Amino acid sequence: MKSARIVKANEPLEVQELETPKPRGSQVLIKVESSGVCHSDIHLWEGGYEGLEGQFLKTTDRGVNYPLTPGHEIAGIVDSLGEEAEGFTKNEKVLVYPWIGEGRCPACRIGQENLCDKPRSLGIYRDGGYAEYVLVPSYRYILKMGDELDTDASATLSCSALTAYGAVKNANLKPNDNVVIVGAGGLGLMAIQLAKAVTGSKIIAMDLNDEKLEAAKKNGADNTINSKKEDPVKAVMELTDKMGADAVVDFVNASKTVESDIQFLRRRAKLVLVGLFGGELKLSLVSMPTRAYRLIGSYTGTLSELVELVSLARRGVIKPLVSNRFKLNQATEALTMLKEGKILGRGVINP
Ligand SMILES: [Zn+2]
Ligand SMILES: [Zn+2]
Repeated sequence: MKSARIVKANEPLEVQELETPKPRGSQVLIKVESSGVCHSDIHLWEGGYEGLEGQFLKTTDRGVNYPLTPGHEIAGIVDSLGEEAEGFTKNEKVLVYPWIGEGRCPACRIGQENLCDKPRSLGIYRDGGYAEYVLVPSYRYILKMGDELDTDASATLSCSALTAYGAVKNANLKPNDNVVIVGAGGLGLMAIQLAKAVTGSKIIAMDLNDEKLEAAKKNGADNTINSKKEDPVKAVMELTDKMGADAVVDFVNASKTVESDIQFLRRRAKLVLVGLFGGELKLSLVSMPTRAYRLIGSYTGTLSELVELVSLARRGVIKPLVSNRFKLNQATEALTMLKEGKILGRGVINP
């Protein structure tokens, strides 16, 4: 089978011919029809993230090995099953849950495999979907897809939409809460649709770009703030009767956005940090207890959240926007375009 692989940081991905795996036990082999191109693939390609004081956090220090086939948003059809895999038949349309754990740590034991101590996520720690086939360790990690959604759109559910859903859940929104969604890109727009559909909260979208804010309005935001043109703290205070936000979900998560988030939080508020932009934050420690707010890091979502999300998507509650399609040998081009901000919705690779 052909796979587009990261061999060396920042160098073009290589399309390699690898042996097609044979599923054993409870494993399932999926013929990949669509694999989403995600921002975290760029970090894998660059070999790391920005940490404190400009320090570079290497992916190899976190257990990533190269060469690696990236791709964790995988949709396709069942090709073959191991002898113990059940409940699926050949050619069935499925979506893959990629956030797989080792199964024994305290997080895995309560169904939070996405937060496993020793993660084995597909496309990050194991070969993923930038390939003609992907081997899934168990039939438990594949979900049947109906015909309501096309394959490209369903692929995006397992990371971009799931991350947005997990973050909205972590904000624990109540009806009439004021929530600020920072960043109205793909994830932000998805979070707006989900918050609108399942929480009844009042949504304020914040971004630097008027076009994205216009899209936020169309997707259900009650108010928008362009933080380049107006003071974000003042604007949030005005929109919330001087109370501040009950929750903030920050899909950018850069020093600049979080510094202002902290200033418009209401007492008891939750600040959910999702984006992987990185940087650092100066924090007044005494205000943590006196204002009793919570800082919450949110990473993807659980298998049961993906099950919920699939039913929301099948009912048309969220509409993933796939804007660019690439072939396997265009993987480098796909990552470059994403890095340069030239992909408006989601880009997918169709092997
Ligand atoms: Zn675990
Ligand atoms: Zn992702």
